[in-house]
Amino acid sequence: MSERTFSIIKPDAVAAKQTGAIIQMILDAGLTVKGMKMIQLTRAQAEGFYAVHSARPFFKDLVEYMISGPVVVSCLEGENAIARYRDLMGATDPAKAAEGTIRKNFGKSIEANACHGSDAPETAKVEVSYFFSNLELVG
Ligand code: ADP
Ligand code: MG
Repeated sequence: MSERTFSIIKPDAVAAKQTGAIIQMILDAGLTVKGMKMIQLTRAQAEGFYAVHSARPFFKDLVEYMISGPVVVSCLEGENAIARYRDLMGATDPAKAAEGTIRKNFGKSIEANACHGSDAPETAKVEVSYFFSNLELVG
């Protein structure tokens, strides 16, 4: 079933000029870009986006990191896009990520791990609409 997922190319990867290489990996994996833009997250946006992690010890650092520079957000589409993009990203900790994954190639630490991808259909829906209006999505 074709579905949509939400992706962030995180500040470490944008700063390291890895945006183009990551987009190429996404396209090579057969996922289609329905919308994409570069934005600077506000503190409130980052706190809201990661609200599910607000009780975690790393939350404060995570928010600081996510607002440390611009990010590239996108809406991706394809068969099983959510699981396929999670597979393409690799494990949260780049040190544990499989060969050929975005985090293995570009992740710097468990925090600065280059990318975000939605983990379920419900979160994908919420996350896409957190950053995109329907007018900003093609098709
Ligand atoms: P994922 O991004 O793989 O879905 P989580 O949802 O568990 O991982 O965590 C969200 C983000 O929080 C991670 O991508 C990473 O940037 C950061 N993070 C997760 N665990 C840690 C940790 N133990 N220490 C620091 N940052 C973390
Ligand atoms: Mg997650």
